[in-house]
Amino acid sequence: MKFIVDRMLGRLTIWLRLLGYDTVSASDFALESKEDEFLIQFAGHKRILVTRDKMLGSMAERAGVRVCLINSDAIMEQLEEMVSNCNIDLEPKIARCTICNALIRKIRFNELGMLKNGDYVPEDLVEDGIDFWICDSCGKVYWEGSHWDDIHKRLEKLRERVASKVSLTKNF
Ligand SMILES: [Zn+2]
Repeated sequence: MKFIVDRMLGRLTIWLRLLGYDTVSASDFALESKEDEFLIQFAGHKRILVTRDKMLGSMAERAGVRVCLINSDAIMEQLEEMVSNCNIDLEPKIARCTICNALIRKIRFNELGMLKNGDYVPEDLVEDGIDFWICDSCGKVYWEGSHWDDIHKRLEKLRERVASKVSLTKNF
């Protein structure tokens, strides 16, 4: 499952990348006009169009594009909508750059010196022997810091909420 997301859903784009999904954003392109037509064409049969724009959604559906319409303003509710519409998996994966969508790779032991010298990350982190990942496309470096614990916790809560709703529908 791959996505193209409209420019009103910037946070959702980041979260989908955190979940490992190949997610292109409308804001990745410098479009001055005809953005709707571009997004529909770009999605084609290859990507699901994720949008809050009902007009764009129905235009895309008429063109045969699979659409996931988002209603909520809150990011966790938006992810919940993605679960019910597209059945996305809510397990975070260190796989994709949240800035540019490229795949990231684990930094090799012999590259750690470069991290220390390059001001990419705090030096004591490199000495602690934790794992790092790099995006070769934009240079961003990732590691499992406290923000990662926070992401895990928020997704765990969301998974529980989704699971409790599923069991409710089963009972009634
Ligand atoms: Zn990147």
